[in-house]
Amino acid sequence: MAEEVLHVGRSPENNVVIPDPQVSLLHCRIIPLTHASWLIQDLDTPSGTWVNERPVVQKEFGREDRLRLGSVNLDTALLLRFFEYSPRPTGISWNDFRKQEEAIHRFDQLEKVYEQFMEEKKRILKNNLLKSTGIRAGLSAIPIIGAPLSILSTALTGDVQEKLMALEEKFKTEYVCPRCFRFLGEPFANLKKRGYCTGCRTPYVRCPREN
Ligand SMILES: [Zn+2]
Repeated sequence: MAEEVLHVGRSPENNVVIPDPQVSLLHCRIIPLTHASWLIQDLDTPSGTWVNERPVVQKEFGREDRLRLGSVNLDTALLLRFFEYSPRPTGISWNDFRKQEEAIHRFDQLEKVYEQFMEEKKRILKNNLLKSTGIRAGLSAIPIIGAPLSILSTALTGDVQEKLMALEEKFKTEYVCPRCFRFLGEPFANLKKRGYCTGCRTPYVRCPREN
C-alpha cells in the first residue's frame, strides 16, 4: 500500500524532489483513490498545500485541478505521470522528471514520423515500379521496403532516385533521439521494445527493461 503513495518535498527521500525554499522537506503526499481521483495531504507545512488556490489539509482532486506547494505551481498532469512508473522513482528532481517525460512524449511522436517515411517510400517505389512494365508481373514478390537501392536502381529513373534521397535526408533529420539527436535508423517497434537510447541512455518508455 505504501507503494501507492507519492511523496513530494524538498528532501531527496521523496519520490519527487522540489528544491525550492518555499517547499518543506516533507511537503505532501498523494494517494490514488480511483482511476480519475487522488487525495492530496499536506504534511503540516508553513507555506501550505493549495488546491485551486485554497489551502487544504487534505483534499480530493482530479486531473483538471490546480495544485500549488507554497508558491510553487505543479503541473498536475505531469505529476500524475508518476503513477505510471513501476517501480516508482525516488529522489528524482521535478526538473529532471519533466525532461524525462518530455523525451518520452517526443519519442512517442516518432512513431508517426517513421510510418509516414515508410508509406512515402513505398508510394514512390510503387508508382515507379508500376510504370515499369518489365517489373509489374513480379511486383508482389519484390520486398519493396528494405530493398537496397542498388537492387532497385535499374528500375528507378533518376527522378525517382532523387525523390528517395530527398525523403531519406529529411527522415534522417527528423527520426532522431529527442535528447542526443542521434539518427535512430531502426524500425520504431524495435526502439520501443528496447526502451532507451543506446547513445545517451535516455528512457523512451516509462519502465524500460534493463539489459
Ligand atoms: Zn539519445
